[in-house]
Amino acid sequence: MKIADIYKKGSVPISYEIFPPKGELEASDVRSVLNSLADTKPAYISVTCSAGGSAGSESKTSELCRITEREFGIVSAAHITCINSTKAEVDEAAESIRRAGIKNMLALRGDRREGCSSTDFRYGAELIEYLRRDSRNDGICIGAGCYPEGHVECEELDTDITHLREKQDAGAEFLISQLFFSNSSFYNFIDKARARGVTLPVDAGIMPIMGKSQVTRMIFLCGASLPSDVVKMLYKYESDPESLMRASLERTVRQIDELIASGAADGIHLYTMNKPEVAKYIMDNVNGRI
Ligand code: FAD
Repeated sequence: MKIADIYKKGSVPISYEIFPPKGELEASDVRSVLNSLADTKPAYISVTCSAGGSAGSESKTSELCRITEREFGIVSAAHITCINSTKAEVDEAAESIRRAGIKNMLALRGDRREGCSSTDFRYGAELIEYLRRDSRNDGICIGAGCYPEGHVECEELDTDITHLREKQDAGAEFLISQLFFSNSSFYNFIDKARARGVTLPVDAGIMPIMGKSQVTRMIFLCGASLPSDVVKMLYKYESDPESLMRASLERTVRQIDELIASGAADGIHLYTMNKPEVAKYIMDNVNGRI
């Protein structure tokens, strides 16, 4: 099924992001994670990939998507990146996704790696345009990333939204947002994007906080801002990880409930960090899920 069609059902779908494990794809571990995730019935699962330079990475992504679809009956989307890849390498990654029978790709620039920058691609929109021009991708639904607080390399949100519009014009059919902790930044972004003609469905990307080091790493990587209630929560439970986890999950559920009630998010995309117990808590407690 194409992800773009999922939004036509009229409710707010909740989907997950997972990542392939490091090293070998141990089939039994992956199946155990997917088995628990499948119980909570996500609308779809997207699988990350490393941004080039790591041999076999795209085949792990497509194999995990294949297992997700074939063995667990869940729609999947394979992430595909370009910044560290040649056109031939992108062709190879796309071929691996198609061979696995996957109908959805999330096309991203990828994070730059020292010493292996592509001369073929600079931005996500160029990748989308390239994939769309290839008739072998007819019938593939292509999604893109978006950034409620602006991409970390872009100083002005308005400029970033101009580039977002280019991804829509290049043929993207749905959007998944970078994580954010303050819903007001998402509402502000949606208002601006809609005013600039971005009409695609947007999944709000939500990541439950699991610890101070995880949050610190994420905010430096993606530039999301930390509201003071999150800082206070991290401070209060600094030496009590169990209570932090509980408080964080409760906050995440409140954040999602508010987003769904607002009507601003077309879907919710949970960054599960491959932790089924986190997804389960949220799915069991969010109001109005499908
Ligand atoms: P782009 O649209 O390429 O934008 C990147 C920067 O370039 C922005 O600052 C933008 O404003 C600017 N820009 C765009 N077009 C132009 C232009 N024409 N002229 C000047 N400036 C321009 N990374 C991975 O490596 N693997 C993954 O699996 C992965 N999954 C992700 C999933 C989601 C939902 C999201 C939101 C991000 C994910 N990322 C992943 C991270 C992503 O690859 C990085 O954030 C990357 O830096 C941006 O990719 P993009 O295609 O979204 O951005």
